[in-house]
Formats: sequence, C-alpha cells, structure tokens
Amino acid sequence: MSYLLDMHTHTLASGHAYGSIRESVEAAQNQGLEILGITEHGKGIPGTCNEIYFRNMSVVPRDWNGLRLMLGCEMNIVDYKGTLSEKEHIIKSCFDIRLAGIHDLCYKIGSADENTRAYVNAIHNPLVDIITHPDDGRIPVHYEPIVKAAKETGTMLEINNSSFSPENSRVNPRENYIKMLKLCKEYEVMIIAGSDAHDPSAVGKFDQVAQILKEMSFPMELVANRSTHVFLKQLKEIRGE
Ligand SMILES: [Zn+2]
Ligand SMILES: [Zn+2]
Repeated sequence: MSYLLDMHTHTLASGHAYGSIRESVEAAQNQGLEILGITEHGKGIPGTCNEIYFRNMSVVPRDWNGLRLMLGCEMNIVDYKGTLSEKEHIIKSCFDIRLAGIHDLCYKIGSADENTRAYVNAIHNPLVDIITHPDDGRIPVHYEPIVKAAKETGTMLEINNSSFSPENSRVNPRENYIKMLKLCKEYEVMIIAGSDAHDPSAVGKFDQVAQILKEMSFPMELVANRSTHVFLKQLKEIRGE
C-alpha cells in the first residue's frame, strides 16, 4: 500500500522542529504524497507560534504543483473534559486540518479513567479530526471506550511513526498500539498514519507503522492514508458537513 498523505508534521514555527514549510513541501513531493498536513503545536508548548501566526496562514499557497497543502494545528487536550488549547473561532477560521493530542507539558496526567475521559470528550468534539499518538504508557487509558467513541464520530486515531523511535520518550507504544489496533479492526474504525516529522527528512516516512500494520494483518480499507478521496470524505463526516 502506498501512503498518499501525511497529516502530522511540524516546521520551525513549532519551536523545536527544524525545517521550513517549503522544505517540508519538497520532501512531501519527493515521497510522492498527494496531501501534506503541517500542524504546528498549540498553545502551551514552549516556543511554539502564537495566534497571529495561525491567523495569517491564509497567505500561504495551498497548491504546490499538484501537492495539496493543509495547514493546521496539533492542539493540546488540556484537561479531563477534553478542552482544547485553541479557541473555537480560530479552529474554525484558520485550520484546514485539526489534530488534538495529550502532551504532559500542558496536561496533568490522571488515572486511566480520567485520561480516557479526556480522549473520549475530545473525540466527541467535531472540531477534532485526528487524535495524535494515543500510545504513551505514561498516560494510561482504556482503549475500548476510545475506539468506540471514534467509531461513533468518525474521528481518526493516529498511529504515530515517531513514537517507535528510540529517541522518543513515549513508553510502550508498540504494546499499546497492538491493543488499540485489535479493537480498531474489531469495530472497523479508521486509523491514520502520521509521521510527526520534526524535520523534513521524516516527512512521509511510515516504515514502523507499515511494519506493525503488516504484522497485525490490519485491513488497508481502514487506513485513511491510502486514498485522498477516503480521507477527505472522512473529514466531512467528522465535521458534519
Ligand atoms: Zn504530539
Ligand atoms: Zn506532533
């Protein structure tokens, strides 16, 4: 299967990533992607861009010789109610693509029940398209309610290629993804691979994700990256458009 989109990447604007928008676009073209998502970190991550950056993103072209660029944000889920770090009107007016994830820099890690509630509430928010890296053993969760909520709303659950990197501090991502993927298979829930590239060299790279999906014989029909059409249709369903 070829991966035609990468909806989770960062540039210099995130404060701890190292490429420009143009370098990321070039990397995406070299990887043969059809859509590139650039999703800078939201408020609460030290050094990330401010609201004015997001509000001015309309100046950036969205078509790069046939590569579609979607600009957005990896928002922070900041509490157990699933509250997002960005304001609703900014999300609606500025973000082509809307990711949300838990980052311990701006979230007080709770019990498995509390963390699960945070994810489930974020999934029920139509302003969230994709839940990023729900895989970190330091943030315990119950996977079944998360997968069931995603089934209800269409919200995509990410398999994050960077989580498998030895430099990454997330704990037991592989074991956690196996649990989650089994349930996604059972309930037929759409997943999406994300590179979470913090450097253009990682844009569109899904080697670790591809391996785990293969090992688990995960059905390709449930992987959003395989088709631009499937992905965009799923976005509409989530947003109720
Ligand atoms: Zn993240
Ligand atoms: Zn990220």
